Amino acid sequence: MRIKRIFCQTLQSLRVPELSRRLHQRESIILMFHGLTDLQHYGLDNCQHKHLHVKRFDAFLNHLKKHFKVIALEDLVRCLNAGVPPPPSSVVLTFDDGFLSNYVLGFPVLKKHGVPATIFLATEFVDENKPLWVDRVDYAFSRACRTKHELIRVKKRLKALPIEDLTVAVEDLERQLGFKLDLSNGTSVPAIYHVMDWSHVREMQESGLVSFGAHTHLHWILSRCPPDLVLSDVAKGKGIIERETGRPCTTFCYPNGGVGDFSDETERIIRGIGFESTITTVGGANAPGCSPFLLKRFGITSDLDLVRFDMLTSGIDRSQR
Ligand SMILES: [Zn+2]
Repeated sequence: MRIKRIFCQTLQSLRVPELSRRLHQRESIILMFHGLTDLQHYGLDNCQHKHLHVKRFDAFLNHLKKHFKVIALEDLVRCLNAGVPPPPSSVVLTFDDGFLSNYVLGFPVLKKHGVPATIFLATEFVDENKPLWVDRVDYAFSRACRTKHELIRVKKRLKALPIEDLTVAVEDLERQLGFKLDLSNGTSVPAIYHVMDWSHVREMQESGLVSFGAHTHLHWILSRCPPDLVLSDVAKGKGIIERETGRPCTTFCYPNGGVGDFSDETERIIRGIGFESTITTVGGANAPGCSPFLLKRFGITSDLDLVRFDMLTSGIDRSQR
């Protein structure tokens, strides 16, 4: 890692990122964030680096403002639908799930830099204050002081289960480990798990900087669900967001979102209920003229420092995302 860091710093001193950014300026990149934090985390707490330190988020936005044009997701989709090239060096910011930290920590930084972002809301999480199943697993493992290796292995197994077996498997795990994430317990739950409410959503929307997209109601992996459940779950999430924001919800983000987590069938269903774009977690930049469906993103996690962020966004090294 140290050698790689020295190599990256050498490239920076030779202004290679600048050249690379110029070579890639016709591509649009979409960045994926989840939560933010203002704490140091130890043990299994945030061990998958899903919650980025807010100071680093601020530094990343400084960098983006200097070298890129941060545009709204809706503007990128509009360009793709109209067949016109997006602005050169365009970047879109997205946050998945609806963590409270997006409002408490992220929104002030977005306002400071005056840059737009889209937040994809899992509506059972936001509307009913029920934790995402992946967070329930993280929390139970973290409180039970198990290893990261075990956590990753178990989550991989759970993600492959047919959906009818998932809920029971998560409950079994919580019983075995002896810990259950309950967001109604308020302050006793670590801040990284807290969820925003509709007043936060409306305040951010009214600023004109933040838009909201759908991310299903239950946050289940759609390719594990039968078509009728895909339809009802996606439509429910869309309906709740539209009811609460008073605006059409036209962007959709796949839970988990990797290759194999969506299919032609899920795509057909999602298009059929009025979405104008779908977003994945498949890593990559988006070429001008690409379809607004199955857009690619780069995941930004707390183990990424500014040097590696520069390598990633400039197009020099996109291998790990
Ligand atoms: Zn998600």
